[in-house]
Amino acid sequence: MTSRARVMTVYGTRPEAIKVAPVVRAIEASERLQSVTVVTGQHREMLDQVNEIFGIVPDVDLDVFAHGQGLNQLMAKLFERLDPVLATDPPDALLVQGDTSTVAAAAVAAFYRQIPVVHLEAGLRSGDIHSPFPEEANRKITSQVTSLHLAPTASARDNLTREDIAGNSIAVTGNTVIDALLHTVEQNLPFTDPRLAHLEESRTPVLLVTTHRRESWGEAMHGVGRALRRLAERYPEVVTVLPAHRNPVVREAVLPYVEGLSNVIVTEPLAYGEFTRLMAAATVVLTDSGGVQEEAPSLGKPVLVMRENTERPEAVAAGTVRLIGTDEERIVAEVSELFDDADAYGRMATAVNPYGDGEASQRCVAAIEHMLLGTPRATDFAG
Ligand code: UDP
Repeated sequence: MTSRARVMTVYGTRPEAIKVAPVVRAIEASERLQSVTVVTGQHREMLDQVNEIFGIVPDVDLDVFAHGQGLNQLMAKLFERLDPVLATDPPDALLVQGDTSTVAAAAVAAFYRQIPVVHLEAGLRSGDIHSPFPEEANRKITSQVTSLHLAPTASARDNLTREDIAGNSIAVTGNTVIDALLHTVEQNLPFTDPRLAHLEESRTPVLLVTTHRRESWGEAMHGVGRALRRLAERYPEVVTVLPAHRNPVVREAVLPYVEGLSNVIVTEPLAYGEFTRLMAAATVVLTDSGGVQEEAPSLGKPVLVMRENTERPEAVAAGTVRLIGTDEERIVAEVSELFDDADAYGRMATAVNPYGDGEASQRCVAAIEHMLLGTPRATDFAG
């Protein structure tokens, strides 16, 4: 038997884990490829929750997490700890997903070792290098050293070709987050928190909120906290659920405003199975997350995005996602409109799937095999 080409996947945060997991499983299932997984541990516990759902046991753990460390300290540690792994047993390709510090560091480190880089979810652009920060810069840096760009949509591909990236190095695959979502929803995993199980059973209206973006740290996030309090007081029959990000900067800004309110449930970060179940039960989703903007539309949920711009324009164009920024008054007004005006709600609550059809990871594996072994390419995802 001929030896299989080795693909090393490097990932560090929860959203990366969710989106690489279906690809890692597809690599494991391929007869031509061998999978090696390296976690950097940028988000330690949240990462473990996802690996568990997908049955992935990382081969190497670089363990770079430390409380309160700056981006430069993190980058330095990533380079230092990843390089020996690349040098000892160089893979045939290195796969990274998205736009975190892990992605930028691993891509550059592999490039310096002349290992071809495969970038999953390539070509997303907000057009503002400072927003989201530092993600927009991370993905542009990564594109510069990537050999195979796995673009989720045609518009992501067009962003890359506009930057003079060769068309034959790009495959349009759909977003693997939809593969992950379908796999997880199928498992029908139960809530471990009895408050959430009760909420789902009682069919209470739910406002689901997530917030963590670095560029909103400070006054903007306090405004989010104040808006949540005002909404909880205005709509006593609605329950707000806030799975609080682990970052203390986020917690200290938002949580004091909602303390003591009986219709606000604050939880620890939820395991992906529980979070997707909660999204399916929610009435309105208020978020600054990237992944949630892709998942919630496919569940038919209106999404209000607390950002000034987005690198995911497809669901905005389809009408299920609206950009509302972080201004307190605007957040209160936009959420209120969806609870008060059934027509406005109906216009946004339509299930759309611009991001994927659940087959993205198969297209990714076909593109990787084509690059490494010359096998045929898959047909691009048409949207
Ligand atoms: N998510 C989760 N548990 C939570 C909150 C979010 O599993 O308590 C999932 C969510 O479904 C999405 C991803 O985490 O797939 C989004 O992560 P995050 O908002 O941290 O990052 P971003 O997508 O903005 O990069």
